[in-house]
Amino acid sequence: MKNPAPQTIYLSDYTPPAYLVDSVHLTFKLGATDTRVISRIAFRPNPDATSKEFFLHGQDLRFVSAMIDGAPITPDLSAEGLRYDAPDAPFVFEAEVEISPSTNTSLEGLYMSNGMYCTQCEAEGFRKITYYPDRPDVMAVFTVRIEGDLPVLLSNGNPVAQDEGWAEWHDPWPKPAYLFALIAGDLVALSDTFTTRSGRKVDLNIWVRPGGDEAKRAFGMDALKKSMAWDEEIYGREYDLDLFNIVAVDDFNMGAMENKGLNIFNASAVLASPETATDADFERIEAIIAHEYFHNWTGNRITCRDWFQLCLKEGLTVFRDQQFTGDMRSHAVTRIDDAMVLRAHQFREDNGPLAHPVRPDSFVEINNFYTATVYEKGAEVIGMLKLLVGDADYAKALDLYFDRHDGDAATIEDWLRVFEDVTGRDLSQFARWYSQAGTPRLTVHESYADGTYQLHLRQETPPTPGQETKEPLVLPIAVGLLNENGAEVVPTTVLEMTQAEQTFSFGGLSSKPTASILRNFSAPVIVKHDKTNAERAFLLAHDTDPFNRWDAGRTLAQDLLMRMVCDNATPDTGFLDGLAAVLRDDTLDPAFRALVLRLPSEEDTAQALFDAGHTPDPAVINDVHETLKLHIAQHLQDTLPRIYADMSVDGPYTPDAEPAGKRALGNAVLALQSKLDGGKAAAQQFASADNMTQQLGALRALLQIAKGAHELAAFEAQWGHDRLVMDKWFALQVSLAPADQAAATAEKLTAHPDFDIKNPNRFRAVFGGLRGNTAGFHHRSGAGYDLLADWLIKLDPLNPQTTARMTTAFDTWKHYDTERQTKIREALERIAGTSGLSGDTHEMVTRLLG
Ligand code: ZN
Repeated sequence: MKNPAPQTIYLSDYTPPAYLVDSVHLTFKLGATDTRVISRIAFRPNPDATSKEFFLHGQDLRFVSAMIDGAPITPDLSAEGLRYDAPDAPFVFEAEVEISPSTNTSLEGLYMSNGMYCTQCEAEGFRKITYYPDRPDVMAVFTVRIEGDLPVLLSNGNPVAQDEGWAEWHDPWPKPAYLFALIAGDLVALSDTFTTRSGRKVDLNIWVRPGGDEAKRAFGMDALKKSMAWDEEIYGREYDLDLFNIVAVDDFNMGAMENKGLNIFNASAVLASPETATDADFERIEAIIAHEYFHNWTGNRITCRDWFQLCLKEGLTVFRDQQFTGDMRSHAVTRIDDAMVLRAHQFREDNGPLAHPVRPDSFVEINNFYTATVYEKGAEVIGMLKLLVGDADYAKALDLYFDRHDGDAATIEDWLRVFEDVTGRDLSQFARWYSQAGTPRLTVHESYADGTYQLHLRQETPPTPGQETKEPLVLPIAVGLLNENGAEVVPTTVLEMTQAEQTFSFGGLSSKPTASILRNFSAPVIVKHDKTNAERAFLLAHDTDPFNRWDAGRTLAQDLLMRMVCDNATPDTGFLDGLAAVLRDDTLDPAFRALVLRLPSEEDTAQALFDAGHTPDPAVINDVHETLKLHIAQHLQDTLPRIYADMSVDGPYTPDAEPAGKRALGNAVLALQSKLDGGKAAAQQFASADNMTQQLGALRALLQIAKGAHELAAFEAQWGHDRLVMDKWFALQVSLAPADQAAATAEKLTAHPDFDIKNPNRFRAVFGGLRGNTAGFHHRSGAGYDLLADWLIKLDPLNPQTTARMTTAFDTWKHYDTERQTKIREALERIAGTSGLSGDTHEMVTRLLG
């Protein structure tokens, strides 16, 4: 009864729940293999119901007993849950079940991680804890009693009472079951307080297991307080309980989880110290803490009616955490980072067999839809909405949303309606962004005559699986015009494109301007604009919009890399001089200069080649990237040591944006310099580094030139005791291994005593490292494909969710030559043919095979 036959669920089939829940009492009698869960649930018929069927989800539960209004019942049990012919009137349902947390390796429901009991219920994990209507539109007030011989026993809400061996918790805010959480273990807290603007004093704790992680909590606490203050200031949202707990867990499938009042974090997403975490880790942690905290309003107080509406909470919360990061750090750099992530992951998803709308209309396993499309494109859609209605109306619409829907399980229609009500706009065309998959291509032609400049725009979205034809979208296109001196003759203007083809005119000009189009990446589209390299170089030197300035350099580099692949081109001095000018411009933020210096990834080049109608060869791409880096290093030879020296940071390490930017540029320069000095400067930096950013930056520079064996060993000796740092050690070796050794390196590391298939961070370090090594993963031998398939087959029975996510490594397979395609198809078919394959993985390989 383990694997219920997978069934496709459709948005259009939504029906309201037959029964609603007023209150839930849960008692947990903890035991590693025999936890008893006793539930008492007050049900009442839903007046809006269309069915009267009493059905409670339940999975992998050992049924002990059940009662209705105190009388024992014998319900119908199946692999999916419990059915009973229940009264058409309010009643109390009670049940007792037994579960086994220590053998639960799926990391969903109640499980154990290094001696700690913890839960993960989103999306459908609560049904592995007890029988319940496990759907987000059933919201209830929870009271929880935990009995167990452990010092710390936590659940949602506020503590009611506790003593040796037990604790009781009450959460006054009605919530869906996916926000339930329980933690029990030997834990120590870093504690602090935050006073909300209305004067509520909130106790804050970050909990870890004792023995090493204590010193890594301070940064997260600081980020939490900043997040709380920011949400008050920018969105007017206050925290609503007396207590906010964060717990770090070693074994976790995702980044973190926004359980009401008890956020549970992957240790990697909350713990940081200067010696163990990089600047990028600090920034990511700050963003994830903010993200989970912001969910308290966008997700918890207002939740989703059903899982098709996932972007309602995730798109909005990502948008909010991106705004926060921009406010805390640099708006320009944050926007560039976010666009790079979107292009690398979401555009890739949109261009392959896994493409789906921001709001999907069907799924088999909802776990497979926590995607870049739902999260990152979902955030972009909100950014466009804000740009279209303006900041003031955006703020009004959000106020109305919080007002009108507090306590609701809402839909995208509800969300759009608040904008329509505030602005009087008709958003029916805009709503296509939620239902239409695929990345629009925006083709730009220009003309100029008699002082009038015209932009002729055409939008076209290629077909995606299940969606052959596409309708025009509403595109906000931010445009500025520059004259030949780089002065802005038309400042940023937002054009609102609604037709498939449209022309926009700008009159009264004295000469033909250079257009800067899609400023600040105002819409998630691919721009096709046949600009000359001279125009791009001009924008790289002069654009007043930092995003487009960076993007001009990016496009130049991408274009050059493609010409090197296709036409054996050699790097032109125009490009190299443009880079040099940015690098030497001390008035520019070092973080920005580091971004300009960073070339598109090999994966980016593979995608760009495919888009242009070529079949990418990862080995050639790898060669060309190496060649270009060497050219850049040689061209900048005289400048590199000076910039490297300029980027040294005085005083003790802080993860703030300014010194982090200097270290980013320092590391970028070091990587180039290593191509010339055989790794001398990098070895020095490794030896003297007092922070992980510089230690790892040096190690990376060495591995990139096939050096660093000594440093790799020293690193292991120094950090063998630290799980999170060792994840970096595992990942780096695989991701930077020479292409013909990548699979062998990964395989060797799976035999390392510290490799643990059950720990998702470690599994992802090795196999995420492998897929990230584009030339290595796609090595013509097929060894990378075979190894990944072998290990996904091993992981699937233990952890279907992480297995399914990792299959996305194959999602570009149709871009490659027939030899590679044949090998990947074999790997996918081997996974698909595995007996007892999980529904999660089965759905993914089926979609991948198309
Ligand atoms: Zn989220």
